[in-house]
Amino acid sequence: MRRVETTQMAKAMMKQAESDTAELAADKGLDEIVKRAREAFDERNLRFTQLREQVFSEIAAIRGSIGAYEILERLAEKGTRLAPISVYRSIDALMEVGVIHRLESKNAFFACRRHEHGKKGRPIFLACEQCGGVVEVPAQHIFDEVKTLAASVGFTPKVKFIEVSGVCASCRDKAKSE
Ligand SMILES: [Zn+2]
Ligand SMILES: [Zn+2]
Repeated sequence: MRRVETTQMAKAMMKQAESDTAELAADKGLDEIVKRAREAFDERNLRFTQLREQVFSEIAAIRGSIGAYEILERLAEKGTRLAPISVYRSIDALMEVGVIHRLESKNAFFACRRHEHGKKGRPIFLACEQCGGVVEVPAQHIFDEVKTLAASVGFTPKVKFIEVSGVCASCRDKAKSE
């Protein structure tokens, strides 16, 4: 009995250590992703202003998507009080450059973690209902197909993005191990 308890405790400790490492890795990832966003702005000769960087960092720091008012609140907690319009303008600039995307179904934003949209074509968004994480998968052919199908009935589609909701791999694995 005692042995079982010890094993369970060891397991719990290992789990904690794993999640600590995951958090550290996420921190490292944030610096990297901010750097890449800055490069994307530089390439277009646009300024990655302090405000844009702050807004971007808030969006990139979370795994899922975040709404404009939540960004405002988080920045306010850190001592940066802004008018909503300032945040909206930054969001527009970030979307324009493509370093964030909008999840229409939630009216929320998430940082782009793929950087080959130009080469591989437009992505579909796979949004996890459990953790809020969004995975992007290149799927230009789906957009082409929609266009072809629409054209066959004389319809001009204005589809910008395609969202699919469901359960991501890590939430599925978590559910299995519980
Ligand atoms: Zn993207
Ligand atoms: Zn998930």
